[in-house]
Amino acid sequence: MQTNTTCPYCGVGCGVVAEHDTTRCDTLVSVTGDPSHPANQGRLCVKGSALAQTLGHDGRLTHPRINGLEVSWERALDEVGARLGRIRQQHGSGAIAGYLSGQLLTEDYYLANKFFKGFVGTPHVDTNSRLCMASAVAGYKRALGADAVPCCYEDLEEAELVVLTGSNLAWNHPVLYQRLRTAKRRNPLMRIVVIDPRVIDTCEIADLYLPIAPGGDIALFNGLLTYMAGKGRLDRDFIERHTEGFDEALAAAQLEAPDIETAADLCGVDVERLETFYYWFASQLHVVTLYSQGINQSSSGTDRVNAIINCHLAGGSIGLPGAGPFSITGQPNAMGGREVGGLANQLAAHMDYHTPGALDRVTRFWTTPGLVPTLPEGPGHKALALVEAIERGEIQALWIMATNPLVSLPDANRVRAALKKCPLVIVSECMARNDTLEHADILLPASGWAEKDGTVTNSERRISRQRGILPPPGEARHDWWIICEVARRMGFGEAFAYSSVHEVFDEHARLSGFENDPQATPETGYRLFDISGLAGLDRTQYDALAPIQWPVNASAPQGTARLFEDARFMTPSGRARLIAVASRPAMQRPGSDTRLLLNTGRIRDQWHTMTRTARASRLMHHRSEPFIEVHPEDARQASVQNGQLARLHNPLGEYLGRVRVTTAQPQGSLFVPIHWNDQFARQARASALIAAFCDPVSGQPESKQGRVALSPV
Ligand code: SF4
Repeated sequence: MQTNTTCPYCGVGCGVVAEHDTTRCDTLVSVTGDPSHPANQGRLCVKGSALAQTLGHDGRLTHPRINGLEVSWERALDEVGARLGRIRQQHGSGAIAGYLSGQLLTEDYYLANKFFKGFVGTPHVDTNSRLCMASAVAGYKRALGADAVPCCYEDLEEAELVVLTGSNLAWNHPVLYQRLRTAKRRNPLMRIVVIDPRVIDTCEIADLYLPIAPGGDIALFNGLLTYMAGKGRLDRDFIERHTEGFDEALAAAQLEAPDIETAADLCGVDVERLETFYYWFASQLHVVTLYSQGINQSSSGTDRVNAIINCHLAGGSIGLPGAGPFSITGQPNAMGGREVGGLANQLAAHMDYHTPGALDRVTRFWTTPGLVPTLPEGPGHKALALVEAIERGEIQALWIMATNPLVSLPDANRVRAALKKCPLVIVSECMARNDTLEHADILLPASGWAEKDGTVTNSERRISRQRGILPPPGEARHDWWIICEVARRMGFGEAFAYSSVHEVFDEHARLSGFENDPQATPETGYRLFDISGLAGLDRTQYDALAPIQWPVNASAPQGTARLFEDARFMTPSGRARLIAVASRPAMQRPGSDTRLLLNTGRIRDQWHTMTRTARASRLMHHRSEPFIEVHPEDARQASVQNGQLARLHNPLGEYLGRVRVTTAQPQGSLFVPIHWNDQFARQARASALIAAFCDPVSGQPESKQGRVALSPV
């Protein structure tokens, strides 16, 4: 039997066809690419094609536990409901926090947000998307007035110039890389520029590689804006009719990078290469700049995003086929979480707390007979601030869903200490090998990828169905069901009386369009990107839902491939904003004995903290153990050799890995993978070495600019 569903790994959001042997209820026969899915058109990367090998009941959490002891669901849910209720009564709603995940399906995410913000009444709900896309979100909001990715994947194929910055597409979004490589073969005039401090695999398709110095991004794009102005390559008509803030942004760019020589000096790229890039960008309308964690994971991530968007707005290169700034999400449903308000600074749907009338609108929408929500008045703690609030004793209960913050949050040892201090830690999780589980007072076994039913949204705003194929193992239950059962025990049952995930989706779609007028101006009403066109689907229609890009509404019943084609932006004035930005140094500075800069990232064949991908032996061949990539001169100075075990250390922690000496790594810096942790290797949590600094606008941690010493073991 075959079922069309969606890959649970990266933000490309590939459609897969899962073949199921109906006589076996614990695994799939095979997983292949879905030729009918627009994101991948049948392609899969190695992770997606190994999905069937990651399944099976071994290694799954199958029973609820309290303090390590197996209990019934009734007992576990009663305990969660009673303890959260007591904490709320004694310490207030704000003593309860949730930490969610881009691994959750949209329906789970919607309900978690509704539960915590709407009925527990706490604003302290954040998500691991904070570590991944928060700067992209903040940058879009500042410039475009909404967290709205303008482009679609076809734009990569229709562009004449594709700029990849802070993105190792070949490893991290392999199917998009395949699409881009094919498009370049078909269009020999297409040019690709790769901007990255390391010589990455993506460079294989680059016409031009700019080995930028870490942190040089704003200077590079400010230099580009100066160049465009100097060469008369601005789209003056677009700037005057559709933007604001241009003069200030240009003045800031000219101040930092008044000429190519200065820009080249600041970003560490030679003048000739930089001028070639500037000439190509400034001469071309059909430019896509694709960026990912290399831009976002910085204490100036939001400004970096805006430096990129500034250049697109100045050139009028947005809202057209093959044009625009394009952030690619890391997780399968980072976008879905953003759509339901899963970030601590969001309220619900695409509404922020400060969106006019939003608190009243959401309160009315979530009110049921006899039960009025108690929404918080303003934003809650973002991820790192949440850890600090736990340390201060302000958070008495933390419910973690589908994520492993002990490995993924920076300063991981501090996170461990904070969790130990938290009086109640509840963890909903599907896999048994997860470092965070050791701190769970109450453990709730959740269903996993092949079992869950719902939707996810990929990087091009495309909503796809994930379909439950196998029954959950043991007593594992769906996240949405768990949330509803806890809500019921806390007295919120009327607002959580769903009999299926389809009803949750319908409510989410209705809220997105509630009192929303897609044609409104700030004077005439309220407008946000919605999916009201998907409200009212019956169960059969929901089950059969084909992939579709939001917004979906009466004006766009078939969805929307590209945003802002009418150059009408979501700001109060309807104009896009250029933002004046200037480079700032990283917050983690070199010490006398921690001079090496630590860059962290993914590898091709592993996903997050390896809880699933480590189960497929063929995914261990590419890189089988933790490693440290180091330039030959740094290796010589540290007296370490290729293949030797070495130690990275700083006052925060240690990391052990096998040395890989390579000239692809710039001198003075190192690269380590984010995946390994205490479950799979000794002392291999890269996050333990990263200080907890973050971007002041987005709250996204500076995960790529640690400072460490390298020593032989
Ligand atoms: Fe899955 Fe991403 Fe690979 Fe597609 S590119 S198969 S979504 S991991």
